Amino acid sequence: MSISEPEDAGKDMKQKKSRQRRDRLLRERIHDPYKLRLKLQDPAVCPQCGAVYEGNRWRWAEKRPTDAQETLCQACQRINDDYPAGEVTLSGHFLQDHKSEILRLARNQEELEKGERPLHRIMNIEEGSEEVVITTTDIHLPRRIGEALHRAYKGDFDFHYDEEGYFVRVHWKRDD
Ligand SMILES: [Zn+2]
Repeated sequence: MSISEPEDAGKDMKQKKSRQRRDRLLRERIHDPYKLRLKLQDPAVCPQCGAVYEGNRWRWAEKRPTDAQETLCQACQRINDDYPAGEVTLSGHFLQDHKSEILRLARNQEELEKGERPLHRIMNIEEGSEEVVITTTDIHLPRRIGEALHRAYKGDFDFHYDEEGYFVRVHWKRDD
């Protein structure tokens, strides 16, 4: 790539902006495979969940923009493919005795997060005999849930990001 001499400051800014944009797109492509497939029109509306993409971000809207294209959002694509971006594993004796309040707290965190960021959602909650596994459509909500559980109930909480795979694993455990 050659970088030409700027003819004026405005053009320079424009080039810099477009370069930044390219870099950002590249980063996003590497990190989240679900952004690669998505060539977004702006504005767009997700036919599955109704989230609206406008001004470069997804949000909930009362009314869809008149000229919006229909595009499945990443969260709905992941839900349809059953391909989560994050996982919270809950375990320990304390969980068995307080399961419903713990899951309510996780759901509350989802509501708060999703209200501002429509693509951050719980996909599934699987209740096993020893563990509960919550999967999510994004890599931020799991940590938020883990932190909230830790704040409310203490216990052990850790998280690990797998940057290559765009995936986060959170564990929360309390035995006593
Ligand atoms: Zn959607």
